[in-house]
Amino acid sequence: MKKMLNIAIFGAPGVGKGTQSAFIEKKYKLVHLSTGDILREEIAKESNLGKMAKSYMDKGQLIPDDVIIDILEKKVDENIKSEGILYDGFPRTVNQAKALDKMFAKKGIKLDSFLCLTADHDTLVKRLINRAKDSGRSDDADVNVIENRIKVYNESTLPVADFYKKEGKCVEINGIGKVEEIFDNICHEIDKVK
Ligand code: AMP
Repeated sequence: MKKMLNIAIFGAPGVGKGTQSAFIEKKYKLVHLSTGDILREEIAKESNLGKMAKSYMDKGQLIPDDVIIDILEKKVDENIKSEGILYDGFPRTVNQAKALDKMFAKKGIKLDSFLCLTADHDTLVKRLINRAKDSGRSDDADVNVIENRIKVYNESTLPVADFYKKEGKCVEINGIGKVEEIFDNICHEIDKVK
């Protein structure tokens, strides 16, 4: 049986996860699971989950781990027969990473690669301010919220990269440069585990 491919794309807000995910999804026929997109859909539907999520997202804070883990497990189950899944914006805390490992073990699958995109602070802020012009995202439009998201990333999310470094799965990829070149570097890493 052909194995299911599970790839996580990781990095600070504005590093280019969304842009690269669109290319990866197409080339490798993966299901793109963006926890941010899932939450934004819930906000648009004005569901209870959406209302709750909005109160955190508007401040640039993370949604509680148990809520997000629950959402993710349902999505993984729905797509368990797919070619594979691209995780974008998850895991974002060490607790989420541990929960993902446990969930995968239970389902007999594993994370094949953890792609960590990098960029300096000023580049991230500049990109997010630019993105606000057409993303329609309120959390991109306010510099204070942007700064808070980067702070939360450095404090709560970056330790996830160390977690996967210890597992030997973390590959760092420079997120600054031409989109096509970054994509080539990503493909090179995915092809190694495919
Ligand atoms: P993103 O689209 O990945 O930038 O996510 C936008 C916002 O959604 C974040 O600032 C968080 O408030 C929330 N969010 C997305 N993914 C997660 C996650 N895995 N854990 C907690 N909060 C999340």
